[in-house]
Order: sequence, then C-alpha cells, then structure tokens
Amino acid sequence: MHLSLKILIVLSFLLLPPSSSSSQTLNHQSSFLNPFLQHKNCSLKDYILSIANHVDTADWIKNIRREIHEYPELAFEEIRTSSVIRRELEKMSIGYRWPVAKTGVVAVIGSGLPPFVALRADMDALPLQELVEWEHKSKIDGKMHACGHDAHVAMLLGAAKILKQLESELQGTVVLIFQPAEERGEGAKEMIKEGVLENVEAIFGLHLVLSSDSGVVATKPGEFLAGCGCFKAVIHGKGGDAAIPQDSVNPILAVSASIISLQHIVSREADPLDTPVVSVAIVEGGSELNVIPDSVSMAGTYRAFSKKTFYALGERIKEVIKAQASVYGCSSVVDLEGNDYPSVPPTVNDKRIYEHAVQVSSMIVGEHNIELSPPFMGSEDLAFYLEKIPGTLAFLGMRNVKAGFVHSPHSPYYTVNEQVLPTGSALHAAFAYTYLLNQLLAN
Ligand SMILES: [Zn+2]
Ligand SMILES: [Zn+2]
Repeated sequence: MHLSLKILIVLSFLLLPPSSSSSQTLNHQSSFLNPFLQHKNCSLKDYILSIANHVDTADWIKNIRREIHEYPELAFEEIRTSSVIRRELEKMSIGYRWPVAKTGVVAVIGSGLPPFVALRADMDALPLQELVEWEHKSKIDGKMHACGHDAHVAMLLGAAKILKQLESELQGTVVLIFQPAEERGEGAKEMIKEGVLENVEAIFGLHLVLSSDSGVVATKPGEFLAGCGCFKAVIHGKGGDAAIPQDSVNPILAVSASIISLQHIVSREADPLDTPVVSVAIVEGGSELNVIPDSVSMAGTYRAFSKKTFYALGERIKEVIKAQASVYGCSSVVDLEGNDYPSVPPTVNDKRIYEHAVQVSSMIVGEHNIELSPPFMGSEDLAFYLEKIPGTLAFLGMRNVKAGFVHSPHSPYYTVNEQVLPTGSALHAAFAYTYLLNQLLAN
C-alpha cells in the first residue's frame, strides 16, 4: 500500500470515533480491519490519552519514577531498578525475560506472533551527587538519576499499562526493552548480543530533554545525534638523560607532532558540513625535568554525524598517531575500543519510521507541538539498535522556565518535569499500536 494512504487510514483510527460521518469509507474499512473501533466508542487517541492521563495512572507513573529516583544504580548494577520493573509487570500479568545483559528486562505484550515492534527505556544513573533538595532526593551518596532514565522506565511501564488494556486488539507483539548501562555506551550492545532484536522489525526510543518546551516532541530524519568515539594511545620510545638527547628516542616529540597532525584532520581533511570534532584531552608522561621518559600516553574523543565520517575518523586517528610515532623512531599502540570509554556510533533515524513517529506524535501532542530538531552533539546508545533495524529516537521536551525545569542533563541540579510522563507513555503506546496496524494494512 502506498505510504500516504496507509498513514491516512492510521490517522483515521487515531482521530475518529466509529460514529463519525466524515469518513464513511475509511470507517467501513477500519471497522473491518481494526477490531478496536468495533466496540470502543471513542478514537484510539482519546482512548490512549484517557488511560495515560487518568489520575490513577499518572500518579502511579510518577511514584514509580520517584521510587527509582531515590535508589539510583550505575551501569550493570540496576538490580533494584529491575526488581521494581518486574514487580509492576507481574502486577499487570505481563510476561518478561530476566536477567538479560545482567540486569535488563524484556517484556512482551500482544499476540506473541509477528510482526514485532520494540519500545526501549534505559535504567542507569550517573556517578553524581544530587544537589536538589526535595522529598525524593537520591538516598545514595554520589549517585543520581540526572539524565531522566528513572522517568524513561516509568514512562515505558505506563505504556505497558496502556498496551495491556489494548492487548486483544494488537495486530502483533510489542517488545518492551528495559536496558542497562546506556551511559556507559554498552547496555544496548549487550542486549543485542542476547537476542533482544530477534524478529523485531522496528524500534522506538524517547529521551526527555530540556532543549524543548514541555510536551513538545522534537526529532529529525537521518543523522540525528553524533557518534562518540574515544581513543587512547601509548607511544613508546627510549628514555634517557635529557641533557644527552642523541642517546634517547623521545616519545614526547612524537606525541606533540601527533596532536598537531590530529587537528589537521578536522581543519584540512574532513567535510566541514559534517562538523566532525577531534580533541586530545589527556597527555601523560615524564616525571623528572631532566629525564626523557620511555613512553607517553595520550587520549581524547572524536565526534561525527555521518557513519562514514565517524568510522573513517577513527581509522585516520590511528593512522596519524602511528605514522607520527614512527617519524620520531617510536612505536605505538592505539586503542579505539577502550573498556573505560566505549565508542557509540551516530544515531541515524530511519526515514520511514521517523515519518510514522512524527505522524503519531502529532496526533498525541498536536501538530503545533512537533519540532524538527537540529543535529545534537551528544550521543545515545539507541544507535546500536538503529544499526541493526530501522527505528527512531525522539526527544520529549519538559522545559518550563517558570517552574524551574531548566537544568540540563548530567547537572547535579537536574529535575524532571513529571507532568510530561503520561504523554511519554501515550507516545510509546501509540507508536507501537499503530506500527502493528500499519503492517497489517500493508499486507
Ligand atoms: Zn546521559
Ligand atoms: Zn540519557
């Protein structure tokens, strides 16, 4: 089926109650194709929002977020957080797999048959001391949910509640992925290794942001978030007396030349429209002012929006450091995949899923609340899923200057505007429901 017709029909499901006379043909078709409209006297949009915004649901979502906020857990340590998720899934009689990638939870709702569509939330907190004084402040010193992952979990549980009530109408299966270790850039990779994307056709992720106003959905087709790469290099020379330089092979000269040459990659070689970045941030070596050290280490980060530039940049960094080391008679070891700082590829939204997400979002939050986001220099490990299957990351805005929701993620003053949480749940649920319906209509 042609995409625009398909979208039109799906929009009619979202907007129109079965009694509407404005589109009799579509309603005739929809009541045949969509059992939902046969026995619920409201549109899908109204039905989803009525569950999400019901005071009991909204309070429940908020309380889950607060409970998780009080006990933040770092990457791959999300034991308590995943027990909260499992407790709530069990209360709703939703089946799940656990543990996946140490602490992850994967739940399923629907027919158990294809097509499968996935919704993803991340669970981990940051090693940060919360400086916000409030009733539900972090009870763990030095750890804080300062990126909204507590809220992401709560929103996805809210979606689970909505989808469970629509379960008999789902035209396939929704896979709910609660993953660990997003901040370390390793959680998604590990979840994929454990097969969470098996048979899954598309994936959708939401991240709360302060760059958009409360209730605004902001996203972008194609290259959205930058890839974040890290490199570490050790350059080996031959130490000696600094007063007799001909007796040593000086790794400090090789590191200095490498740093200058790395800057030239960006200024002379890269496509300026791709705005790549290469920064050397650490140089360590030497301990005495009159002794040439045996080796010097250096480390830094690189960013790019296109996958081609990102992967080429990593290889070029390796090449430049190795070449400069050998110019100065040194040897070198360059690591692009360090355990401390794993690389995350660029987040590239699939155009078809992006269009679907925007159409569904505009029904839920209104067209005036949809923004085309500029590219964003941060990275997101949803990118790993998007390298395997089509999908989309969308931002859900929560900025409210008057109410004080202004502090950016990873700030010790970060606060979540809990009013947007039901909207997040509704977006997740509507995205999955209509995706499955689309697939039915397409076949
Ligand atoms: Zn973060
Ligand atoms: Zn985050």
